[in-house]
Amino acid sequence: MSIIDNMYQKLGVSKQVLNFGLEVESGLKERFDRIDEIAEYNQLKVIKAMQDSKVRAGCFNYASGYGYDDLGRDTLEEVYAAVFHTESALVRPQITCGTHALSLALSANLRPGDELLSPAGKPYDTLEEVIGIRPSTGSLAEYGVTYSQVNLLEDGTFDYDNIRKAINDRTKLVTIQRSKGYQTRPSFSVAQIGELIDFVKSIKPDVICMVDNCYGEFVETIEPSDVGADMVVGSLIKNPGGGLAPIGGYIAGRADLIEACGYRLTSPGLGREVGASLGVMKDFYQGLFLAPTVVAGALKGAIFAANIYEKLGYYVIPNGTEDRHDIIQAVEFGIPEGVIEFCKGIQAAAPVDSYVTPEPWPMPGYDSNVIMAAGAFVQGSSIELSADGPIKPPYAVYFQGGLTWSHAKLGILMSLECLVRAGIVTLD
Ligand SMILES: *Cc1c(COP(=O)(O)O)cnc(C)c1O
Repeated sequence: MSIIDNMYQKLGVSKQVLNFGLEVESGLKERFDRIDEIAEYNQLKVIKAMQDSKVRAGCFNYASGYGYDDLGRDTLEEVYAAVFHTESALVRPQITCGTHALSLALSANLRPGDELLSPAGKPYDTLEEVIGIRPSTGSLAEYGVTYSQVNLLEDGTFDYDNIRKAINDRTKLVTIQRSKGYQTRPSFSVAQIGELIDFVKSIKPDVICMVDNCYGEFVETIEPSDVGADMVVGSLIKNPGGGLAPIGGYIAGRADLIEACGYRLTSPGLGREVGASLGVMKDFYQGLFLAPTVVAGALKGAIFAANIYEKLGYYVIPNGTEDRHDIIQAVEFGIPEGVIEFCKGIQAAAPVDSYVTPEPWPMPGYDSNVIMAAGAFVQGSSIELSADGPIKPPYAVYFQGGLTWSHAKLGILMSLECLVRAGIVTLD
């Protein structure tokens, strides 16, 4: 037995599960090579941006108080703008999460009487309260911003006829979500997003196109800002934080729109000039530096899992051979025990809190119990290996992340081990 096999056994992965996994992995070499190629390109893109922006040791210094002339902060925003090929960017620890970043981009650029359009169906759950689809204190609806939505066609493509009809003289901003999030529609490729933006702008050239880029960064060699998006928005405890950012969000885009976000984030008159970086800059830079490689590891994990569970006869979204546009993988187990055992395996493979057993629990905002597995260095970080599933039909588990491919692989093997031990899956 090799020393690697031996170590897998010490971690709880049986020979049978390991062999099954290795057989699946051996068929994935070409796809993994392609992922490494994308990561290599994105790594070079990030390094070039850091060099062009003259990142230096002084950027990691601690700024406090008002934070005027915070060199690290201002330079990092230049780096983000260079990576996303935009005029400007706002990247701050004061942007608390992805929802906050999206809410900020919307509220900074919409005024009473304007209309927000979602041409690709329902947006991410938390945006329902931001927009006021579900009545909520401080929503855009309370400020007199109306909302309209065009659902996708049955085959998951854009309903161009109805999008044309939905665009009116009050339509100010269009929001497009790249990742499916926790829906069952396909995620959109950057090229598809580009087509949609072209179409929208052919009808109304001055409409602002915003893309919710969460979970999509560095999955491809281009970003939505390369195909016409006026703003791209995301969370730093997902892909671009590389697992190191302890908090934060970013908005990259057209200079006037980003300027408005600055005034909304802090205060009219102050804008981007204030907001000290409070010592997190080194992690923001280093996380961005690592992000292309981290995303590659997470993608390999997602593809590995898709192929393992597809081979065992489960419905997986995306399927084992599809191109990837985000790092999320869904597996439908059809029974609650499948979701629970999968999550137990992910938890058992974690570097942190591996000894705890996740259990389904009622969660605010959900209409069923939810089970979550995460043993993360940054709480709630979903670029780290994590899984969750609502305990209701079709009993699907959603999982994502993995700071390294080796860890993602261990997590997926442990998930299978737990399913085998529970008698839900049999390997022959
Ligand atoms: C995670 C996510 C969000 C919200 O981000 P939080 O950091 O959880 O607030 C929004 N949209 C999509 C597609 C996401 O995946």
